[in-house]
Amino acid sequence: MAITARLDKHTKTTSTPSEKVFIRHQSREKAMKLQDTAREWLPGERVCWCGRRPAYDGGRKRAKRLLSVKRSQEGAAYYANLERCGSVWTCPVCSKRIGSHRREQLWKGGRSWLDQGGHVYLLTLTVPHGREDKPFALTGQLLDAYNLLTSGRSSLKAELKEWGYAGQVRALEVTHGDANGWHPHLHVLIFVKRKLPGTRSPVGNSHHVTGPVFDAVFENWEQACLRVGLDAPSKGANTLQDGSAAFDYIAKWGPADELTRAHTKRARRGRTPWQLLEDAYMGDLRAGKLFQEFVSAFKGRRQLFWTRGLRDLLGLPKDADDQQAAELGSDGEYVERLQDAVIVTLTWEQWHLILIHGERANILHMAELGGADLVLDCIRILRKRTILRDLAKAI
Ligand SMILES: [Zn+2]
Repeated sequence: MAITARLDKHTKTTSTPSEKVFIRHQSREKAMKLQDTAREWLPGERVCWCGRRPAYDGGRKRAKRLLSVKRSQEGAAYYANLERCGSVWTCPVCSKRIGSHRREQLWKGGRSWLDQGGHVYLLTLTVPHGREDKPFALTGQLLDAYNLLTSGRSSLKAELKEWGYAGQVRALEVTHGDANGWHPHLHVLIFVKRKLPGTRSPVGNSHHVTGPVFDAVFENWEQACLRVGLDAPSKGANTLQDGSAAFDYIAKWGPADELTRAHTKRARRGRTPWQLLEDAYMGDLRAGKLFQEFVSAFKGRRQLFWTRGLRDLLGLPKDADDQQAAELGSDGEYVERLQDAVIVTLTWEQWHLILIHGERANILHMAELGGADLVLDCIRILRKRTILRDLAKAI
């Protein structure tokens, strides 16, 4: 299938309006549920107060702002004036927003490059690993090897100069498998002006590009891995794929898909961090401990890195950091605007009731379905429940 046809396939939506509402409710509930689980496993981290504490006005007075439930122009209810942690690795709610914003940017950038007559490739870089490897050290070595690959005389830039190398975006990802432990890896989108030479692999994935360019890049990757103290990587586990595969990757990029489904489809070669968190929610203590280990290895690392000047070439604005991207949201659903209509204003005492009963997601569903009246009815029920619970304790 030609790339443009594939792009159209990805951008066409087949969901009906009611299906969209259902998916939104399901996805919001799941992200908030997992956020609560992350709070339990990561005490003291910023995710613990994300979407719970009031945002304060700046200045000396630092007054709490009014908490309200607003309706976005796309019809989604959301809480306005709560603090947001902007943690891409630890917070499912923020990560979803950051991911959808960045996916949209990748998509726009890729599309713009095709419109300019350019080509996009997907390079996947992996390193050998085993059950005993610690994720912090392994990920550090992976990134060190990548830095070697992208600098110096035999850098990716130099290897691809002949084909009009314009830049690259590298995405850091990780899964965990019971057999082989942590598997940090990189996906690199490469932007070149001319089509790379090489043949498509006749077997297996027909989007794999083999030939002199891939051979040279893999040789440099092998050298880089050895220089940082890793074992030699396997050629079969590192690939260069054409534009169709690159756009398929972009279309699925980020946690939005994973967090949209009620139950995550298991990755073939291990669990993603969000799958570990979901298993922790289901009572798998080992998965919770692995999630903690993942966070300590990834916290502070950049998820997505654009080489200098590439965004300008693609007509994209300056890159947003994690916190800004979490505020920006994405293609509509999450964008919050000052002028959005207020469905209901809540007191902080009412908010406290919603929090202690774990009903953040449900209240938003109710606001969408029945407006202020239904929200206030639900809060009355929560208050009665609290009184009954306190009475039961007192007896
Ligand atoms: Zn957050």
